[in-house]
Amino acid sequence: MHSPNNSPSRPNSPDALADFVERHPRLFVLTGAGCSTDSGIPDYRDRNGDWKRRQPVRYQEFVASERTRQRYWARSLLGWPAFARARPNATHAALARLEAAGFIHQLVTQNVDGLHQQAGSRRVIDLHGRLDAVVCLACGIRGSRAEMQGALERDNPAFAALAAVAGPDGDADLDDANFDEFRVPSCARCGGILKPAVVFFGETVPKPRVERACQRLADADALLVVGSSLMVFSGYRFCKLATARGQPIAVLNLGRTRADGELTLKLEQNCEAALTSLLERLCLNDMDHDRERTVSGLESPRHGAMTSTTMELGRIS
Ligand SMILES: [Zn+2]
Repeated sequence: MHSPNNSPSRPNSPDALADFVERHPRLFVLTGAGCSTDSGIPDYRDRNGDWKRRQPVRYQEFVASERTRQRYWARSLLGWPAFARARPNATHAALARLEAAGFIHQLVTQNVDGLHQQAGSRRVIDLHGRLDAVVCLACGIRGSRAEMQGALERDNPAFAALAAVAGPDGDADLDDANFDEFRVPSCARCGGILKPAVVFFGETVPKPRVERACQRLADADALLVVGSSLMVFSGYRFCKLATARGQPIAVLNLGRTRADGELTLKLEQNCEAALTSLLERLCLNDMDHDRERTVSGLESPRHGAMTSTTMELGRIS
């Protein structure tokens, strides 16, 4: 039972979330950029769900324009190292702990950083793909982003020596540079255009991936959204489906979301703090959890007022 001061029906109370999870143990969890900001990966949107930086590059521009690709890969060359170094935080660890305890039926993430898997989550669908891989648009072969980094650095030593501030999704701010001389590696097999294996803004999520996620939602008790403003339809669609089926929806997010009118429960809190509190209330904050946090290298998780907005479909601006 919960304490009288925090009745389960009280909105925004940590006990309300614990009660929600206990009543709906087969959770479909949808995560967004707010999960990874505490790992040092910036996000695109502010608390109102509005863009706080230049919008990411669109798929159509990337495919059509060599100049756009030069600009994309030059920025990515500088942004990738920090992105690749990011490690899971207490939010990722808590979700892995919830899965191990049997509460998570499926986790679908809009993030492209692979941090849920690093933290130990197994039931993960990377809705928007993964930034640690590249794909040839002509022959379809996949390669590793780490190898691509080697080629980018080798071909562009002058750019590799520049310093830039990291942006979302392995981007970096490099607005004043002249990209004319930037050499973009092409597919070693066919000479085709290489693209990160992520879904760009203006690109659709592969249909089999969407169908699999929708099927998993159909078998779940409820939808829990963590760290997403749901501004992108590919994520919001799961709220629409859940609403149509009468499945309850809880959202943990700092700031406004697109689904605010459809929610059973809304917690406007920092993800790390709220999920750590949830584990305590579910009596899951045990030695296993401590071990996971140590393994993740998270000695002192931050509980500051981090913004929490959705990862965008588009990538580098
Ligand atoms: Zn190819």
